[in-house]
Amino acid sequence: MRNIPITVLGCTGLVGQQFIRMLIHHPYFEITALTASAASAGKKYYDIAGLTQAISFPQFIQNQRIIETSVDEVVKSGAKVAFSALPPHIADVIEKPLATRGIFVFSNAKTNRMEPDVPIMIPEVNPEHLQSVARSVSEKKGYIITNPNCSTAGLALALMPFMDFGIKSVITSTYQAISGAGRRGLSAFEISGNVIPFIKSEEEKVEKETAKIFGTWNNECFKPANIDVNASCCRVPVLDGHLETVSIEVEREVEVDTLKELIRSFRGIPQDLALPTAPEIPIILREENDRPQPVLDAYAGFPEQAKGMAVSLGRLRKKGRRINFVVLVHNTIRGAAGTCILNAEFAHSQGFLEHSARHVCSERRAT
Ligand code: NAP
Repeated sequence: MRNIPITVLGCTGLVGQQFIRMLIHHPYFEITALTASAASAGKKYYDIAGLTQAISFPQFIQNQRIIETSVDEVVKSGAKVAFSALPPHIADVIEKPLATRGIFVFSNAKTNRMEPDVPIMIPEVNPEHLQSVARSVSEKKGYIITNPNCSTAGLALALMPFMDFGIKSVITSTYQAISGAGRRGLSAFEISGNVIPFIKSEEEKVEKETAKIFGTWNNECFKPANIDVNASCCRVPVLDGHLETVSIEVEREVEVDTLKELIRSFRGIPQDLALPTAPEIPIILREENDRPQPVLDAYAGFPEQAKGMAVSLGRLRKKGRRINFVVLVHNTIRGAAGTCILNAEFAHSQGFLEHSARHVCSERRAT
């Protein structure tokens, strides 16, 4: 039954459009309000120019009037859950006040990710971090749950099958799609036939967020894991899909065939619970020498509603205790809207979208 009213904050952006696409037919979230900047407020969704996905949206979305992104407007809309695709400086003045007013905020913005008591969650990776919002729920307050930056989302999920061998260090280079910079991000002149070897704050985000995701919650704050992550991030002329080369050093020797089996068989809690947006296989192993590729593999994942929710892992190689591979993540789906929705589905499954915490969250799964 579709009975949980939700709002999409920043509904006209690349992530906002992805949210709407994934939520239109959602079994229990119902879009009741769409917000954007003052320039878009008052217009019907259909009237906003340049929304590449909007053409396929049904009439009730096309005709919906966008409201201004303000705390009062969102509260007035009756939304219980807010999916945030806001730019960081706007998220900064909206998300905490919304949580204070009792709304469950699931956010893509970097603004609150490194707050000591705010989780960065991927349900296949660190479902136990949901426990950090239990107090808010039992005190009948809202909370903020963030998902990682797009490159980190792919990296952290891909690292899961390797965790049992003790990851000492991670070196990654990213080849990130243009859509990662937002709807008005880069001009054709800047990126066509070009590679830009700098994305502001991206390397720091990958390094710090990964350590926090694999860290622990001590009932007051998160303690980062002791994983040394080094990232170099580039923008490349690709539409969707961030490719990442990854080199990890593990503490214990392991054979490539064992790793392949662990990757193929890896499943997380979203798969066990059959959450609506969960891909049946979260990490798809590619054996071909020339895969994954953004054009062929960015939309990996099945069933239909989970397209783009699987990461593709290929070129698996080993040199002693160093393991090298390539991972591909759809940046606006698994890297943004999709993980955000999966977090909310997981929170719902544990009773965390109600103001009375019922369960202690599941422990991280062994691979
Ligand atoms: P985007 O395409 O630039 O969209 C930004 C959205 O925010 C639009 O709906 C825009 O509305 C709205 N907005 C802009 N200024 C505003 C203001 N002053 N007040 C209220 N709303 C305002 O950005 P995006 O790529 O979707 O990214 C959204 C968020 O997700 C960002 O924090 C980004 O860092 C994060 N993220 C993005 C990706 C990705 O791959 N793109 C991945 C992970 C996380 P108007 O149309 O009215 O201007």
